[in-house]
Amino acid sequence: MTMRFKRILLKVGGESLMGDREYGISPVAALDVARQIKDVYDLGSQLVIVIGGGNIFRGVAGEKNGIDRATADYMGMLATVMNALGLQDALEKVGVPTRVQSALTMPAVAEPFIRRKALRHLEKGRVVILAAGTGVPYVTTDTGASLHALELHCDVVMKATKVDGVYDKDPVKHTDAKRYKTIKFMDILKNENIAVMDSSAMAMCMENNMPVMVFELFKAGNLRKAVTGSDIGTYVANEVETQFA
Ligand code: UDP
Repeated sequence: MTMRFKRILLKVGGESLMGDREYGISPVAALDVARQIKDVYDLGSQLVIVIGGGNIFRGVAGEKNGIDRATADYMGMLATVMNALGLQDALEKVGVPTRVQSALTMPAVAEPFIRRKALRHLEKGRVVILAAGTGVPYVTTDTGASLHALELHCDVVMKATKVDGVYDKDPVKHTDAKRYKTIKFMDILKNENIAVMDSSAMAMCMENNMPVMVFELFKAGNLRKAVTGSDIGTYVANEVETQFA
C-alpha cells in the first residue's frame, strides 16, 4: 500500500463527534472517527489531530447572544478541550496510543503544547491531539490546524468536512454543482462562492506551500482513501491545475 502522505495534520470539526445528536459528543460517532484514524495509523501514518469545538460552542454564536467576543472564543477553546478528551478516549478504546496537548494550559487533563515534545510523540508512534486551537481568540481551529501543520512539518492538512470536496458552488443548494479534483489556492481565495476553510488559514497554507486535502470523514474508509491517493475529495495546492473531477 503506497501512502501519498506520511505525516498528516487531520482537522476534525467538532460536529464529526456529534453523530445524530443536536449537540455534544456521541460516543458512537467518536468511535467511528477513531476507527478511521486507526485504519491510517496502522498503515504507518504519523497523525496530528486538531479538533474543533463547534458541536459544543462557537465564539461567533456566543457573541450573537451578547457575550464579549474574546470571552466567547475562550469558551469555544475550552469546548475543543472536551472534544480532545472524548476523542482520546475513543482512540485508546480502539488501541491507538495518544497524547493530548493543549494551547491553553490545563495540566490536570492535558500536556501543554510543546512543539518539540509533540514531534517526539510522533516519532514514538503516538497520535497527538491538539486542543484549544492557537490559544488566542478571534481565530478558529482552522488557523490552529494551518499553524500546527507548518511548525510540525506535516505533509498535508486534511480537512474533514460534511461535503466530499470543494465544489464550484454549494452542492447542498445547487444540484448542478461540480467537484474539483484539484484546485489552486488562489482560485479558492478569489471565489466568494467557495467556503471550505477560514480564508486566513487558507492563505497561510498558500503562502507556505502547505497543501490541503478536503474530504468527507463521515463515510467509512474515506480517510484511508485520501491518505493512499484514491480519487476522492479535492487537493488544494499552488502547483496544481484547477480541474473538475
Ligand atoms: N477558538 C479560538 N481560537 C482558536 C481556536 C478556536 O478562539 O485558535 C474558538 C472559536 O470561538 C471557535 C471555537 O473555539 O469558534 C471552536 O472552534 P471551531 O469553531 O474552529 O470548531 P469547529 O468548527 O472546527 O468544530
